[in-house]
Amino acid sequence: MSPRPAGLLFDLDGVIYNADEPIDGAAETLAWVRRQAIPHLFVTNTTSKPALELQRKLERFGIPAEAGQVWTPLAATRQWLSERPEGKAALFLREAARADLAGLPVVDDDAETGADFVVIGDLGSAWDFARLNRAFRLLHSNPEATLIALGRTRYWRAPDGISLDVAPFVAALECAIGREAITLGKPSRTFFEVAAARLGLAPHELLMIGDDVLADVGGAQAAGLRGALVRTGKFRPEDLEGAVRPDAVIDSVAELPSLLRER
Ligand SMILES: [Mg+2]
Repeated sequence: MSPRPAGLLFDLDGVIYNADEPIDGAAETLAWVRRQAIPHLFVTNTTSKPALELQRKLERFGIPAEAGQVWTPLAATRQWLSERPEGKAALFLREAARADLAGLPVVDDDAETGADFVVIGDLGSAWDFARLNRAFRLLHSNPEATLIALGRTRYWRAPDGISLDVAPFVAALECAIGREAITLGKPSRTFFEVAAARLGLAPHELLMIGDDVLADVGGAQAAGLRGALVRTGKFRPEDLEGAVRPDAVIDSVAELPSLLRER
């Protein structure tokens, strides 16, 4: 691939592992990436597990990862907030997810005013009218307050059936306040830009490797990165017939070193 990317972003599920099974050759590829000293992050939309848990999972698969190398919507939120004048955040997040934002100035859990940032994650069955309305009151009382969405997934398949994810709640708030949320999660441009800034590189210097042709490859390309699609995880042959044209298609992440070597 020419020019060779200066940095790499790896999607996790479907690229490095399938649920609890590592993908053949992933550990060897990452060992090669480290030997080549190519800066890289592991990029996922997961907000139900703290980054540390994902880091431990990678280590179990023989892939050492440093703190801060697992790039989640929460990590992006922390970085994004750190680049802005200090303000208080209101967190609508599960308890486990709050650990990744520990130390940030936050408003009390029952506050209805005083937030500069309102962060909406996956609260599942903890959502009710009072809680959603409190998010609305925080945003309404401060017209300058920013609404931050941790990803824009509409629904997911829960053990007891199809269930609302983050996006419908964010959409309700956008409708009520008449302004749009910033989304920190794939496929949002801001999410990729903040990841590039984390590596100290420009978006065009990065290659995103993913199994989701829209969220990983399409999202990356729209933000100015290149995107490589792997034929593992959720890949389907039809993915190559849509509007998104990957910059490269490889059988699996095991082929990455030969893709990047000079030819
Ligand atoms: Mg994936």
